[in-house]
Amino acid sequence: MLRFRLVPLLLFFCAFAVAQERTITILTQNAFDGRGGVLRNVRIEIRGDKIVSVNKQTGAPTLATYDLRGFTVLPGWIDSHAHPTWHFGPNGHFGEKDELPERATLQAEGNAWRTLLSGFTTIQSLGSLEDVPLRDAINHGVVPGPRILTAINPLTDEKLTQEQIRDFVRKVKADSGDVLKIFASRSIRQGGVRTLSDEQLKVACDEARAQGLRSVVHAYKDAVKASADAGCTEVEHGSLTTDDDLREMASHGTWFDPQVGLVIHNYLDNKEKFLGAPGYTEEGFAKMQEVLPLNVEMFKRALRTPGLKIVFGTDAVAGAHGRNAEEFIYRVKDGGQDPMAAMVSANSLAAQAMNLDKEIGSLSPGMQADIIALDGDPTKDITAVRRVVFVMKGGIVYKDSR
Ligand SMILES: [Zn+2]
Repeated sequence: MLRFRLVPLLLFFCAFAVAQERTITILTQNAFDGRGGVLRNVRIEIRGDKIVSVNKQTGAPTLATYDLRGFTVLPGWIDSHAHPTWHFGPNGHFGEKDELPERATLQAEGNAWRTLLSGFTTIQSLGSLEDVPLRDAINHGVVPGPRILTAINPLTDEKLTQEQIRDFVRKVKADSGDVLKIFASRSIRQGGVRTLSDEQLKVACDEARAQGLRSVVHAYKDAVKASADAGCTEVEHGSLTTDDDLREMASHGTWFDPQVGLVIHNYLDNKEKFLGAPGYTEEGFAKMQEVLPLNVEMFKRALRTPGLKIVFGTDAVAGAHGRNAEEFIYRVKDGGQDPMAAMVSANSLAAQAMNLDKEIGSLSPGMQADIIALDGDPTKDITAVRRVVFVMKGGIVYKDSR
C-alpha cells in the first residue's frame, strides 16, 4: 500500500525540482561568442548545466546573479593536448618509482583542479591509464576538474601487424577511450624519427573511424603528410615539417595542433626535475633547445597556409598544469597569431575538432554553461589570459575572485 502512495509523491517532488531549477543570470559588457564575434551588453541566462538565452540587454540592467560587466566574458577554453596525470614525485623529480599510488592520484586531481581554475573547462588527455578514474570522478562530481577526453593507451608499437593494430584500436574503444592517440614518430628528444609505416597508419586511422573514434597522431617531419594522407583526424606537434606537408593537411581537412612555446619552455625551466627519467637526457634537452625557434617559425608558416585548421593544444606536462594559457601568449607574441583567432582556436574550433561543437565552445542557447571571465581584454593585451577571475563549468561556479 505504502508503495502506491509513495509513487505519486515522488513524481510530485521530481516535477517540483525541475520547475524550481534556479535560473542564473550573467550580465556582460564585452563578451566573445567563441566563433570570433564580439557581443556587446548581453545578458546570459543559465538553467541547470546549460545556457538558455543570450540576449541584448536593453534599458536599465536587470538584477543579475553575476555582474561581469567590466570583464571579458568568453566560453571556457579547450586544451586539445594535455597530460593531467603527469607530476613531480615526493622528491621533486619526474618519474620517481617510490611514490605511493595515493599521492599520484592526489597530484593528478590537483592538476585537474589547477587546470579548471585557470579557465580550461575541457581538456583532451593523450593519454594515460590513470585518466579513466580521474575522468569518471570529475564527471560524477566526486572531484572538481575540467571535462576530460582521454586516449587511455597510445598506439606506439611499430612491430604490430595490421590485425594487431585493429585489435589495439578496438581495445581502446572497449576500455571507454574517447579518442585514439598514435605515435608515428619518436619523441623530438630522440630525433623525431618515423616509426609507423604508411600502411600501419592507414589501418589504425581506418579502424578508429570504424569504431567511431577520432585519431590523433603525434607526428614530425614526413609523418605529418603521411598522417594526412592516411585520413587521420588530427596531427599533434608537426615540428620540422615543410610547407608541402602543411598544405597536405589543409587539403585533407586534417586538424593541426602545433605547440609554440609552453611545453619546451616548461621542460627547459624544470630541466633538473626531468633529467634522469627515462628518455630525458642532456642530449634530449639540447634537441629541445634546438627545436624551440624552429617550432615558432613552423607555426608562422602554418598560419600562412590557406585553409589549415589550427586548434589550441599545450601538451601540458608536469610543471605546466594551471599555466596552460601561457601558450596563448607564445602564439600571439612569438608566433604572430591574431589574438581573437587564438581564442577561437581554444573555443569553437577545438570543439569542432572533437565533434563537440553542439555542446561546448560557444556562447549560445543550448550549449553547456562553460563560461569564464578575464580581467582585461586579450585582443588588446594577450597577457589578460593570465587573469582568469571567474570560472563556471556546466552551470556550477568554481571560481569567482573578482
Ligand atoms: Zn603529449
